Amino acid sequence: ACSTDHILCTWGVAREFGGVQALRGVDLHVTRGSITGLIGPNGSGKTTLFQVISGMDRGATGSISFDGEPILGRRPSQIYQRGLARTFQLSRVFPELTVLENLVVAGSRHDRSVRERALGLLERVRLRDYAGARGKNLSYGQQKLVEFLRVLMSDPALILLDEPAAGVNPTLRQTLWDMVRHLNGLGTTFLVIEHNMEVIADLCSSVYVLSEGEIIAHGDFAAIRNDERVLEAYFGK
Ligand code: ADP
Repeated sequence: ACSTDHILCTWGVAREFGGVQALRGVDLHVTRGSITGLIGPNGSGKTTLFQVISGMDRGATGSISFDGEPILGRRPSQIYQRGLARTFQLSRVFPELTVLENLVVAGSRHDRSVRERALGLLERVRLRDYAGARGKNLSYGQQKLVEFLRVLMSDPALILLDEPAAGVNPTLRQTLWDMVRHLNGLGTTFLVIEHNMEVIADLCSSVYVLSEGEIIAHGDFAAIRNDERVLEAYFGK
């Protein structure tokens, strides 16, 4: 059951697109301070669930609470302001702004100057030298990292990551996961869509498995990896 230990809970979340049941009765609990994984074959509903939780898709039924408050039906900006942020599968860096501007426009809830915070984040991921470069001149992996930093500018309590490492080179990927771990150590909670099972095993204390819009298993990686329904969903029978 959902308790104050959980920063995010969903109950019976369902979403249909013209006869396609993209989500069916999704119950999910994200423990405060955890890195929780969300896996499942292509088309199983992972991105749709992120769309619904973040308020970008408002056509779902059921209920969702974030930090004890109902959020289903709220506007994305309201949800974001409460401290729930997300990244997208494809980078959404502003191409004509510089890297520093990309971060500064995201603002900050901190007293420390926004610019200083942005530079600190860039330093941390070794992109400080790129502060003045335009978004469009970064590599794809660097853009994804900058998008991640932009989300961090608001210091969210919960971050939804949608395949943050996809298309990113191994070095930057390592930087990204190190940053996730570092922030998690400072108290940020993560819900992560990721296809690389080594990363999931390594990073996540709890994993939910979606198949055809339904949660078919959840638990730690060791528990779900040999689950009959999970094997069937991934490899068929
Ligand atoms: P995943 O992220 O796990 O790959 P998605 O959430 O993208 O899965 O998709 C789940 C199902 O919902 C798929 O059958 C997909 O075609 C359908 N779907 C997702 N978004 C839309 C949409 N905007 N309109 C119609 N169908 C959609």
